[in-house]
Amino acid sequence: MATVLCVLYPDPVTGYPPEYARTGLPLLTSYPTDRSMPAPTGPLGFTPGELLGSVSGELGLRNYLEGLGHQLIVTSDKDGPESEFERMLPKADIVISQPFWPAYLTRERIAKASKLKLAITAGIGSDHIDLKAASEAGITVAEVTGSNCISVAEHVVMTVLALVRNYLPSHAISVDGGWNIADCVSRSYDVEGMDFGTIGAGRIGLAVLRRLKPFDMRLHYTQRHRLSTEIEAELNLTFHPDVKSLVQSVDIVNLQVPLYPSTEHLIDEAMLAEMKRGVYIINTARAKLVDRDAIVRAVEAGHIAGYAGDVWYPQPAPPDHPWRSMFYNGMTPHIAGTSLSAQARYAAGTLEILQDYFEKKPIREDYLIVEAGGLAGTGARSYQLT
Ligand code: NAD
Repeated sequence: MATVLCVLYPDPVTGYPPEYARTGLPLLTSYPTDRSMPAPTGPLGFTPGELLGSVSGELGLRNYLEGLGHQLIVTSDKDGPESEFERMLPKADIVISQPFWPAYLTRERIAKASKLKLAITAGIGSDHIDLKAASEAGITVAEVTGSNCISVAEHVVMTVLALVRNYLPSHAISVDGGWNIADCVSRSYDVEGMDFGTIGAGRIGLAVLRRLKPFDMRLHYTQRHRLSTEIEAELNLTFHPDVKSLVQSVDIVNLQVPLYPSTEHLIDEAMLAEMKRGVYIINTARAKLVDRDAIVRAVEAGHIAGYAGDVWYPQPAPPDHPWRSMFYNGMTPHIAGTSLSAQARYAAGTLEILQDYFEKKPIREDYLIVEAGGLAGTGARSYQLT
């Protein structure tokens, strides 16, 4: 019997289940690339469209796991040595966590998790796990690659328009009973004709570029692996060999690379100084890719026209985190990849990973981040251990 320790975000303050705005979800049969959707066998254990990512949703896993005689522990209590997560960790064979409410698996915690064999990220982005420590401990790390890429790409497009067109302050003026058009528009521009650049054009970054193409912007990217000439031609992309060259050329910078030791503070004071005055920065990748306080200073100095995204450090962000009150911010809590639509896909992918694990079948290569003591699958293509 295995113990599965699952950390999920708290239920809605109004109780569970919430009153849903719609019934069901559109049926998707494939991802935009040639990759196939999660394909667990047997009953799903949930109805697509339900809130699955909070504690009572249990990712729909209870019947499946208990049907096999395994124990499922679900908690949102994840931080500090007295948390349920840390207390239960020594018993856990499998840990499941979501980036939105990450159960940080540090080297110290991994040392306490003597039975742990598999750490699943229900979503994308496994930087909340010390991947080097996990590989040294022989733990497999897997995530549901592809599951929420379009959810995040849609969030980025929304955010580009919200920042550049000054949507959020204008909406607040309308809610507050005001009508000063000049106050609304004195920071409002069209995106048409602007230069947009993404640092990282993997599954999400490329989906963002595709979605922005009809807005008649000039599109730029830089990343470790250059895209095919067909894709570059289709989207009329300008490739930059490095981050500095990209940020010097664009009006909007989008971050879409994973966080690992050498991408931490990729955007620091010096890199911000290379950007045009009035740049907009969108970060739905990970907060530690940027220097938090350098961003605040650059916004206050009028160098950055707007900063938005949904990723913070730590998560949940403390009430006094400076980005909460920073001018011209379009921040949300970490939500881009956990729409009800995304949850149905990453819950199904989590079930697929568990089924493969318990049936001793190989986990889909695309889902692997760490296996057999080193980076594997998507991990080998997108991460580094240093
Ligand atoms: P991906 O693996 O498809 O793409 C990442 C790309 O980054 C790869 O193509 C890789 O070549 C490139 N890359 C890695 N290191 C680089 C470097 N130093 N310089 C340039 N390029 C580099 O991943 P994805 O699905 O597009 O997701 C990207 C990231 O987005 C995730 O790692 C995660 O942190 C974040 N994410 C956030 C949310 C959210 O809800 N906000 C949801 C999903 C993913």
